[in-house]
Amino acid sequence: MKLSSRIQQVSASVTIAITAKAKQMQADGVDVVSFGAGEPDFDTPTFIKDAAAASLAAGDTKYVPKQAQALKKAIADKLAAENNISVKPSQVLVTMGGKHAIYAAFQALLDPGDKVLIPAPYWVSYPEQVKLAGGEPVVLPTSPKSDFKITPQQILDAAGDAKVLVLNSPSNPTGVMYSPAELQALAEAVLQTDLIVLADEIYEKLVYGTESFVSFASLDEKLPERTLTLNGLSKTFAMTGWRLGWAAGPQELISAMARLLSHETTNPVSFAQAGALAAYTDPQAADVIESMRQEFASRGKHMAERLRALPNVTCIEPTGAFYCFPDISANYGRTLGGVEVTNSMSFASAALEAAKVAIVPGVAFGEDRCIRLSFATSMEQIDKGLDRLAELLK
Ligand code: PMP
Ligand code: GLU
Repeated sequence: MKLSSRIQQVSASVTIAITAKAKQMQADGVDVVSFGAGEPDFDTPTFIKDAAAASLAAGDTKYVPKQAQALKKAIADKLAAENNISVKPSQVLVTMGGKHAIYAAFQALLDPGDKVLIPAPYWVSYPEQVKLAGGEPVVLPTSPKSDFKITPQQILDAAGDAKVLVLNSPSNPTGVMYSPAELQALAEAVLQTDLIVLADEIYEKLVYGTESFVSFASLDEKLPERTLTLNGLSKTFAMTGWRLGWAAGPQELISAMARLLSHETTNPVSFAQAGALAAYTDPQAADVIESMRQEFASRGKHMAERLRALPNVTCIEPTGAFYCFPDISANYGRTLGGVEVTNSMSFASAALEAAKVAIVPGVAFGEDRCIRLSFATSMEQIDKGLDRLAELLK
């Protein structure tokens, strides 16, 4: 069969593939420690599940669920209260996962050949989604020495005829968050260009350093007209399987994305939206989020310490999201567990095959010196996996 050239240039999501492989190995009885999944190990909070269950029991099983308007308003209220972003409910679009909001944004914005600036290391889906929309990903390189952060000058140098800049802070995969001052400096550079910014803030609540999180669109009064803020419930509320995300920003862009979705998905699952409404309106949410954040904070600190104790490994402290992104390239050239390790892919193979530890090779994120380990798993699993890696590397 001749598939479209569009789909032929898209590779499958490595993060999803490794997560699925580790889950399958576990189901087959293999004792794998999985640091693959970028997904909270916690269950969705009970008050959210109860709201969805009640909605299902009450017969909310139709197109265009009755909660849809209330949910958009709740998200607009949240943006005003927590993010200093002012939008009308009509400027909010609820999608089937944050991933889908980003997809819809690129579809609505890009013409063939339009350039999108993507700081590396980047989340695997950005370049593929740009390509699916006919656009051209342009990677902005960074280095572990600068905590994987881009500079304002890089934006100015690369802006040229580029149309969109993707900013993801806190970042998947680096686990690093821009400080408010750093973000302000990037904002000032953006304002000297015509770039539209996709601010992926899905990890906004998972912040561990001394700096607090600020939303990109809030940094200047001229930014809201050219910033699309992207977010979702997967990470904040441990709702990955629910597939609920959203975008908020300029009315024209949100309406265009909504037109696309009217043909693509119609609406996110009706009773799931009832759960989302509870997540954003129930006063219990704050405590639940904070207790998960504290748990992630201590796990991240512990995992980074243990990684630094491994031979030939350096690791910066995670200040956000739930990933450590150590540089393991000093091990290239060694034979580990019978595997000749020459790059992040072969390192990941050695870890999985010989040590039964699932990690994601950095090459999937555009950084072949590193690997990504998710610390959205228990302390016990973190220690077990790190013991195994220590044995592998000794
Ligand atoms: N953005 C980033 C940076 C992510 O890591 C994820 C996690 N998959 C998403 C967006 C989308 O997540 P979801 O589709 O589950 O909302
Ligand atoms: N964002 C998570 C990760 O990077 C989930 C998988 C995905 O959607 O790519 O592992």
